[in-house]
Amino acid sequence: MDLYGALEAGGTKMVLAVMDGSGATVEKTAMPTCTPGETMPGMISFFRKYAIRSLGIGCFGPLDLHPASPAYGSITSTPKLPWRNYPIVSAFRNALQVPVALDTDVNAAALAEASLGAARGLESCLYVTVGTGIGGGLIIHGKPVHGLTHPEIGHIPVLADPADPMPRGVCPYHACCLEGMASGPSIEKRWGIPGKELPPEHPAWELESGYLAQMCASAMLSFSPEKIILGGGVMQQKFLLPMIRRKTAALLGGYIVHPAVENGLADYIVEPGLGTASGITGAWLLARQADPAPSQPQQR
Ligand code: ADP
Ligand code: ZN
Repeated sequence: MDLYGALEAGGTKMVLAVMDGSGATVEKTAMPTCTPGETMPGMISFFRKYAIRSLGIGCFGPLDLHPASPAYGSITSTPKLPWRNYPIVSAFRNALQVPVALDTDVNAAALAEASLGAARGLESCLYVTVGTGIGGGLIIHGKPVHGLTHPEIGHIPVLADPADPMPRGVCPYHACCLEGMASGPSIEKRWGIPGKELPPEHPAWELESGYLAQMCASAMLSFSPEKIILGGGVMQQKFLLPMIRRKTAALLGGYIVHPAVENGLADYIVEPGLGTASGITGAWLLARQADPAPSQPQQR
């Protein structure tokens, strides 16, 4: 049986799984993200218990994903200082002696959603997580998009809502970017209460859905993905999706005419098809793609 290692590397926790070629989980565990010196040995021991053929990692970033770069496979300018410039790919490759594939956590999740989730059968989608931070993964022609670096849709500028009592967001880099204005911590800072405890009629949600709608409209006009998938802790507020759809449609002003965006965007801006499993499933897909000689046919 072919076995693959999958790692969803997050800023607060690491989710590790060993899965077979069909995606069935053999063992799964999680551990807190401490320093590399503290966290790497436990992760290496976990994967060493199995004869994995390759390892796929969906990782918090920013990452150096340029194969020709000397720093390829490193976490670069992260605010999580112990991991800054950490060469996560070579560390695992040296320890496990198997091919290691790396992409952003959100590109991995987007890949999983495009292959097996809400955008299954489509060639493109945008997956955005709205949580402690805001990150987006973009699939075009079936592949995660990399370019100069990789998409950072969480940091696109947004227009401050005139009704916003906090016109400067929480991002240390930008006065008014999406993450600074609409992440979970920004909601908590603005209102002094975590989003989870704010009732549906609270003005917080008009602002929140407005900022996310600005992103959805910009993304549709910029990349034309065939589906936008919104996940993450904040999106557990289920009433947000219809608000975001309505505001996105208003911002588009009827300009984009396509059957897929009819119906008030109800089939277009959607929740993840894989629930909270998009990230680890994407890491497994990356591992399978990195396997030079799989015995079962590859998806995508
Ligand atoms: P992370 O982004 O750290 O991986 P989450 O996606 O769970 O994890 O996001 C955590 C953030 O989402 C926190 O800021 C938290 O306040 C917020 N959050 C979590 N659950 C909810 C909820 N039900 N409603 C609104 N905000 C929530
Ligand atoms: Zn920012």
